[in-house]
Amino acid sequence: MREIEEDIEERSLERPEEQPEDPKKKWVLKMVKSAKRYHKLCPYYDKKTGMCLLMVTVEGTQGRCDRDGRYDGCPVFNKFLEKVYDSYKSRRKVLPNDFQDVVNQAYII
Ligand code: SF4
Repeated sequence: MREIEEDIEERSLERPEEQPEDPKKKWVLKMVKSAKRYHKLCPYYDKKTGMCLLMVTVEGTQGRCDRDGRYDGCPVFNKFLEKVYDSYKSRRKVLPNDFQDVVNQAYII
């Protein structure tokens, strides 16, 4: 059942009328979709402490994850991906196609 829901969700992302025009938003969506292939829960969620390991990078302060690691639609997660996008664009680098190429950049960006 869950697989069917994910399939429907993935297909809905592929519908042209639902694709955002903004290339940054498009890429962020693509990375979220790619992340789902690898991570059931947010890779930056510390299950033991409940802390968000991205918060420092994105917001400049430590904080807890109030989503129990569900990163789909998480503003912190999306903001991080937007930062990655900006960083690649400012360095004129080719954007990654796979979330795994981005996952460790939380400590670099
Ligand atoms: S707040 Fe968002 S980015 Fe941070 S751990 Fe939770 S789901 Fe992940």
